[in-house]
Amino acid sequence: MQIQEFHTRFADEQACLIFLEQTVWANGRFCPHCGGTDTVPLRGKAAVRHLYHCRACHGQFTVTTKTWLHSRKLPLTKYFEIL
Ligand SMILES: [Zn+2]
Repeated sequence: MQIQEFHTRFADEQACLIFLEQTVWANGRFCPHCGGTDTVPLRGKAAVRHLYHCRACHGQFTVTTKTWLHSRKLPLTKYFEIL
């Protein structure tokens, strides 16, 4: 991938999250708390943050929950530049 293309593809947080979701949940979305697959996207402001609700344990999560990316202090776009 060319550098220019890389920056275009991961231009913002949304693009990074979508990419991560497609990668981590390639075989289907699951809850990082209980492993349940009965999950639904939250609406409103939460949807912007790509937050999901688990119907099994009633927990909320994003694709970075319980990963090293969850405790990040920088925007995702910065990490994608490093990776
Ligand atoms: Zn769960």
